Amino acid sequence: MPDVRRVCVAFLDCHTVAQRAANYLILSQNRLQRVFEFSVFNLDRMRVEVAKPVNHMFVDETERELLTGLIPASRDVPPSDAGADGTQGVEAQADDGAEAPANDGVDIDEYVDRALALVRLARRYVDREVRTEDLETTTVPAKWIIFTETRFLNNYYSSSTDDLVVVSLGRWRTAMAPPSALEFILRMTQAATAEFFLGVPSEHYFTKGCLFDYNEYIQDARLMVLVGDVCESCRRTAIEAGREAELVALLSIIDHTWIGDTTKSDSVASVLKKVFDYDLYVSRGLSANRLETFWDNVTSSSTQEFIRLLAAVLLAYLLLKFGLKAG
Ligand SMILES: [Zn+2]
Repeated sequence: MPDVRRVCVAFLDCHTVAQRAANYLILSQNRLQRVFEFSVFNLDRMRVEVAKPVNHMFVDETERELLTGLIPASRDVPPSDAGADGTQGVEAQADDGAEAPANDGVDIDEYVDRALALVRLARRYVDREVRTEDLETTTVPAKWIIFTETRFLNNYYSSSTDDLVVVSLGRWRTAMAPPSALEFILRMTQAATAEFFLGVPSEHYFTKGCLFDYNEYIQDARLMVLVGDVCESCRRTAIEAGREAELVALLSIIDHTWIGDTTKSDSVASVLKKVFDYDLYVSRGLSANRLETFWDNVTSSSTQEFIRLLAAVLLAYLLLKFGLKAG
C-alpha cells in the first residue's frame, strides 16, 4: 500500500469564486478512495497573520515584502466597487464576451515565487500551532494547489513546480461553460494530483482529453475538463513507474458520476445546490448567478405555480382592460 498522498488546495486573491462550494466538491473526493487525501487551507489568512505584531518574529523582512506585494492584480472592478453579492468583477467582465488583452496581468513566475513563500510561511505557522495546541497527529501536506483570480501576462493560466501548482481563474469566461467553473476547479485539482503522483514525466502535445494534455490557453483546457481521462499511453507510463495504486485511485475520482444530479436529495450535486446555492448544471460563472438561480427555480419545482400566477395576472389585466372599455 502506498503512503497517503496529501494534497492541500487553497484560494489566494479570490473575490468571486464560490470557495466554500469548491472546497466541498474537492473534499468529497476523500470518500471515494483512500490513496489521496485532499485538504483545504485559508492562505489569505496568512497575510492577516503576518501583519500582527506577535507574528513579526517569525516572518523575515524578505518574506514580508513578498507577501505585502501579493495583491490582486489586473481586476477590472476593484473589490470595493463590486456588487452587494460580490458577483461583479471577474464574472461581469467575462459576460461581455471580450477577451482581456494578453498584456493585462502579472508575471506568472513572480507570482509562483510569492505563492511558494506563502506556502513556506503557512507550513511554519501550522507547525507552531500544532506544538501550541498539541495537535501532533497533524501532517502538513507536501503538495499544494493554489487557485487565484489574478490574471497572468501572455494568457498563461497555470504553472507548476515539484510541490506547487498555481492555476489562474482570471481568464475564466462564462462562455466556456459547460463545464461550470467549479467543475473546472475540480478537474484542475485532479490534473495537478496526477502530475504530482502518477510518475508521468511531462505533458503531451496532442489533445486527447487526457489530464496530461498540453493546453496552451485556458479555452483549450475545456476538452480536458469535459473528457477528463488518463490516456492509454499515460496509464502505461504510470504503471511502469510503479504507480498503479495511485492510478486506480485517480480513475475512481475523475469519473464524475459520483457527483450525481439534483434530482437525488443525497447527491453531492444536490448538497451543492441546497447548501451552497451552486447548481453545477445551471451555474456557469465562478459563483452562482442570481438570474441563473431564478430561472432554475422557475423551470423546476414551481413551474406549474408560476404559470398559474402568470395566467391569473393576464386574466386580471384583460378584465381590467375590458372593464375600462365597457365603462
Ligand atoms: Zn495522456
